[in-house]
Amino acid sequence: MQQCERVEIGVAEEQASEPPSPLRAAEDAPSALSTRRGDKTALPEEKQHPLNAAQWSDWRWQIRNRIRTLEQLLPYVPSLGASSELPKVIARYPMAITPYYATLIERADMSDPVFRMSVPNVQELYDPPSLSDDPLEEHEDMPVPGLVHRYRDRALLIVTTMCSMYCRHCTRKRIAGTRESSISPHRLRQVVEYLTAHPEISDVIISGGDPLTMSDAHLETVLSAVRSVPSVQIIRIGTRVPVVLPMRITADLTAMLKKYHPLWINTHFNHPNELSTQAKAACAALADAGIPLGNQTVLLRGVNDSPQIIERLCRGLIQMRVRPYYLYQCDLVRGVEHFRTSIRKGLEIMEYLRGRVSGIAIPLFVVDAPHGGGKIPVLPTYVVSSSCTHTVLRNYEGLLVNYPEPGAEADPSMTAPANEPGVWELAVGQASVILPARNTRIKRREKIAPQNRTKGDAQSLLDR
Ligand code: SF4
Repeated sequence: MQQCERVEIGVAEEQASEPPSPLRAAEDAPSALSTRRGDKTALPEEKQHPLNAAQWSDWRWQIRNRIRTLEQLLPYVPSLGASSELPKVIARYPMAITPYYATLIERADMSDPVFRMSVPNVQELYDPPSLSDDPLEEHEDMPVPGLVHRYRDRALLIVTTMCSMYCRHCTRKRIAGTRESSISPHRLRQVVEYLTAHPEISDVIISGGDPLTMSDAHLETVLSAVRSVPSVQIIRIGTRVPVVLPMRITADLTAMLKKYHPLWINTHFNHPNELSTQAKAACAALADAGIPLGNQTVLLRGVNDSPQIIERLCRGLIQMRVRPYYLYQCDLVRGVEHFRTSIRKGLEIMEYLRGRVSGIAIPLFVVDAPHGGGKIPVLPTYVVSSSCTHTVLRNYEGLLVNYPEPGAEADPSMTAPANEPGVWELAVGQASVILPARNTRIKRREKIAPQNRTKGDAQSLLDR
């Protein structure tokens, strides 16, 4: 929060116009909390709930009725009242949960992934020395307040400090929600001046907070300003709105966004329970507007630190035309220690995914390096050994194979030993592959009927 004051992005628009109405959220959200999962799309609310579908589908209503105070939450999760520390957590790191997102909670305790990501936890006050407010040192790379210029050709622009929900694991906890405001015309002019003076920047990421909490008109002001810089080729928006406020993806919004192509959107699904019917509809509307969608997942203890959960998430995402893009190791942010996993857990997940799901469903596992070092990909070890002539690789099955370098030939002076080949024989070209025992793929090959075997030419592939 101290650092929040260092990000002076200016106040132009107090968003979501009305402050949250105190107990309406408490009246409405609870039925959300107690009613199984959200796909209240078709809202049988007339029967179950005093709201009507039009209210529920109105994103501004959702924002006005966010759960923002402990008093609003307590009637539905009385156990939270036992903690005298929780008010301190909320004072330090604001809470906001949209009624929609609350419907995705299945169990009102920390074993539920949606509850864990949205409801404050006293563990947020745990403050080990390895954590800091701004571990990525974004503030050090801001030539204009709010504009992070780290990589040569890219810049990230913080356009608002408001989100519809304040994720408990947020990497920008230092600013998100501490003051709900958005970029001023003056600051936007400074940004455009900087971008114009730096034509090497071709890719601008509009971030926050959540940019899609801004009104269409205000967001368009930002997009058109950035688009006015001739050297900016690509605009990207980072948003969690399709996850926590999918009704925000309106026809008016997509029609406006279409005007600023090439425009990409990265969203932030972390768990398969977030892939509701409404979230799917929101992503479909964006994809239908020609907007390529990527997803950035954060690896979170107690939420998605399981290979099977990430597999379900990634499979679900590609069905929604959302490409899993990054799986992030949790940043060293103050207040999120209880979400951190080991890097080994991420490696285990990546090992599990490769070969099991399509490559388009596999994100890149990255550590966003402390001190502003940028994203460092972390992969299981696939290069097993090498020599001047060959590189020995391992696949997901445990098969070892060599790849001959161009012009490389096995050294004829080296003779293969009498026993079975090992890694050394692969590395020097005395053998080309070592197969794992009981390999399903090889067994499948053996079952192919002789008449179905091709000669490897095009004709035998397609003709009888
Ligand atoms: S929506 Fe994004 S910026 Fe906002 S709290 Fe969640 S992770 Fe942080």
